[in-house]
Amino acid sequence: MNDTTPLLPCPFCGGEAHRFTIEDDQDPNHGGDVIVCRKCEACSRVEFGEKEGLEEAWNQRAISDHAWLGQAGLYRTRLEAVQNGEQHLEPVSPEQLFQLARNHVREAGIHA
Ligand SMILES: [Zn+2]
Repeated sequence: MNDTTPLLPCPFCGGEAHRFTIEDDQDPNHGGDVIVCRKCEACSRVEFGEKEGLEEAWNQRAISDHAWLGQAGLYRTRLEAVQNGEQHLEPVSPEQLFQLARNHVREAGIHA
C-alpha cells in the first residue's frame, strides 16, 4: 500500500479528505479503511484486506463529471445529492445513464 498517494479534495464540498482505519468494535466496518471528508463527512467505500486502490477510487470520484446515482434517484451533480442529504453515491457513466433512462421509459410504457 502506498500511503503517499495524495488525496484530491472532497468532490462534494472541496473539503480536505483524510484516510483512516475504523476502530470501533460496534461498527460492522471495524478494521476497514475509509476515506472521509473532514468537512461534510462524505466517505468512500470501506476497504478491507489488502486495502489497495482506495485513494485511486476516491480521486477518480473527485474528478468524475458523470451523473450520480443515490437511493432517491439520479443527480446531475454531486452537489445536488449532498443538498438532498445523500452522500453515498455511485457514479453513473454515460452508457449507464442512457440505459437507466431507457428502462425508465420502458416502465412508463408498461404502466401507461
Ligand atoms: Zn466534503
